[in-house]
Amino acid sequence: METPKAEKLFKAGEVIMSQGEMGSCAYFIQEGRVRIVVEKADGSFLDMGTRGPGSIIGEMAIVDNQPRSATIESLENCTLLEITKEDFARSVKGANPIVRLISQVILMRYRDILRRSHTLTEDGPGCPSPEDSERAYAEQTNVVESIKLANEFKVAIAAKQLILHYQPIYSISTGQVLGFEALMRWQHPQRGLVPPDEFIPMAEDSGLIIEACRWALGEVCEMLARLDAVRPDLKDLYVSVNFSATDFEESNFLEAFSEILQRNNTPAKRIHIEITERLLLKKPKNVKETLDNCRKLGMKVVIDDFGTGYSSLSYLHQYPIDTLKIDRSFIHNMRSDKAVLGLVKSILTLRENMNIDIVAEGVEELEEAQLLSQLNCDSAQGYYFSRPISENALSALLEKSNPPRH
Ligand code: C2E
Ligand code: CA
Ligand code: CA
Repeated sequence: METPKAEKLFKAGEVIMSQGEMGSCAYFIQEGRVRIVVEKADGSFLDMGTRGPGSIIGEMAIVDNQPRSATIESLENCTLLEITKEDFARSVKGANPIVRLISQVILMRYRDILRRSHTLTEDGPGCPSPEDSERAYAEQTNVVESIKLANEFKVAIAAKQLILHYQPIYSISTGQVLGFEALMRWQHPQRGLVPPDEFIPMAEDSGLIIEACRWALGEVCEMLARLDAVRPDLKDLYVSVNFSATDFEESNFLEAFSEILQRNNTPAKRIHIEITERLLLKKPKNVKETLDNCRKLGMKVVIDDFGTGYSSLSYLHQYPIDTLKIDRSFIHNMRSDKAVLGLVKSILTLRENMNIDIVAEGVEELEEAQLLSQLNCDSAQGYYFSRPISENALSALLEKSNPPRH
């Protein structure tokens, strides 16, 4: 498979796209100028003007799957950012249907006008040129930055720039590691280690998260196999993998998931699926069915950042939930704020009442761990115990916390 490139270069005089051809991408002009020409039915040519940095070209074909309506060639050496049909389809999949409809209608009308027009009149004075309007729109939004980041992220997946760090989840009473949470990082060639908060939202919006999370699951399975080879006594250790609403909207989520586990011979019980309360609030189609099936396969379902979704608790019995992770903001404030402590206590009652495991997240201090232990909350994760660590550091950590029995 060809490695995707973040930018495309065209030399002066090159044809970027030809009228009548089916197009598979649009371009955002970063540098250089292009000329747009339409060939009319009588064989004569209509000069539609030029475009420069800040404009989008070739956008029509990716919206409505029609042949290109114009030929575009570079007047100078050009640097373009590609927006593929797939990128566009993924982005509009979750968009408001009215927005989708209106954009289609506007496009149809525009094509119609183009077909009928034989001459173009000059715009009146004071009227912004199409290029000015487009540039103004691009400047108002952070569209350029997000296209750039998304293109770089596509390269990152293919070029193996993504890595996983693992944060241990401990039993406070025994000091043993029960499992790990897999957390994604991007080893960016220029920017260094990029934290997930800086790329996960973009990856979710663009739909690229699906590929990234599949990669993460495969990587976790491979890591478990490597760990089993050196520590065959730790086959109960699990890894919690984060998934987003976008993953659940994919119709073949479960098939793809099972295929990855089978390929790696990973027992499903070693994988916990971590999703946020917000995902359940969004109620993506089939989420209950998908979670039920994950459970049937043997995976555990974990609700992350519990308490931050401001939801009613009614979903707890609607969905198959094995574990709740108390959000770190509660752990941080429980010693100074009685109301928060009350909330933590009531979350802990769900363990007995609903047979749900509870993990405390973001434990940073000894006193927090002690208080949790007094409250009978035994599973915890946080900087007090360990920061997320690389796979290389896993064995040494386990050697200390879960020494092999001889
Ligand atoms: P999260 O799922 O809530 O992950 C826990 C975050 O809290 C991690 O940040 C972890 O490093 C951090 N953390 C752990 N212990 C402590 C502590 O004691 N104090 C504080 N202040 N923070 C602590 P990280 O790795 O930066 O990840 C941020 C978020 O990015 C994650 O939040 C998760 O929502 C998302 N994310 C990370 N990896 C993935 C992934 O593979 N897929 C998806 N969909 N999302 C991911
Ligand atoms: Ca998580
Ligand atoms: Ca969390």
